[in-house]
Amino acid sequence: QARLLFPLMGLMRVALDLQTSSALFARIFEYLDLKPAITDAPAARAVPDGPELGRVEFDRVSFRYPDADSDSRPTLDEVSFTIEPGQFAAFVGPSGAGKTTVSYLVPRLYEATSGTVRFAGVDVRELRQDSLVGRIGIVSQETYLFHASIAENLRYAKPEASDAELEAAARAANIHETVASFPDGFDTVVGERGYRLSGGEKQRIAIARVLLKDPPVLVLDEATSALDTISERVVQAALDDAAKGRTTIAIAHRLTTVVSADVIFVVVAGRIVERGTHSELLALGGVYASLYREQADAALPAQG
Ligand code: ATP
Repeated sequence: QARLLFPLMGLMRVALDLQTSSALFARIFEYLDLKPAITDAPAARAVPDGPELGRVEFDRVSFRYPDADSDSRPTLDEVSFTIEPGQFAAFVGPSGAGKTTVSYLVPRLYEATSGTVRFAGVDVRELRQDSLVGRIGIVSQETYLFHASIAENLRYAKPEASDAELEAAARAANIHETVASFPDGFDTVVGERGYRLSGGEKQRIAIARVLLKDPPVLVLDEATSALDTISERVVQAALDDAAKGRTTIAIAHRLTTVVSADVIFVVVAGRIVERGTHSELLALGGVYASLYREQADAALPAQG
């Protein structure tokens, strides 16, 4: 039955080969870990294992989307940072600042217009893309599920996973009980025309998928408001666990995510304007401090 997935993936690959840059396909290829239309260099190699695995660096990276006006401001403008293996890094800033775009350049879904993106110490252009993409897990705002069983959706991340592994991943992602309550358990068919999962349930399936994949680098593109408070808490607990022991790049909208980050990058109009820990940035009294105050005020009941 798992074979059913492959014709579907083939179709998507064809669509991707048309070089569409629509947001829809950008999202689909991030979920399915498909290769975008960037080809490997002849001497491209696998991501090296070793102490640098998990380091992510941007060195004066500028980027303009292929379909953007050539005289417009670049989406990313000379962005430089290093995230050390195992660190939790959060990107914050106003909508449209370029945070999600940063996360697209790490797995080389798009190529930097200038500057260098390095993964495990190596220029991503020198790495085989299958190897690169295989070491990055993405949990995003919109989770794409195949019209297939939950087990098949999970095994997409690890085809050889045993039932016990699926169950362990589902437990760690706080979705096991929910799945067990479905009429057909892990055989319940989801996705389009299938059993309808809530946003929070889909996200937890996505987290279980990432746990099965067990990548050294995790990208979390946080939902803004899709979840109610209870399922947000459940999802957050699962994400916190998933982030343990790996480099995590969080595109953060929630205060709770950033407060404990090892480093926070504040992005405004394609540039990193401030960087540091939560307390350092509060003390700085700049953009972060005012964003934080705004959100904290919004979260509190109005004072009489
Ligand atoms: P948000 O917090 O709203 O998610 P963001 O900081 O993540 O915003 P990005 O999604 O990185 O911002 O978008 C940065 C800019 O690039 C925006 O102006 C956006 O319209 C533009 N952009 C995003 N995707 C594409 C695309 N595929 N083609 C052209 N422009 C794009």
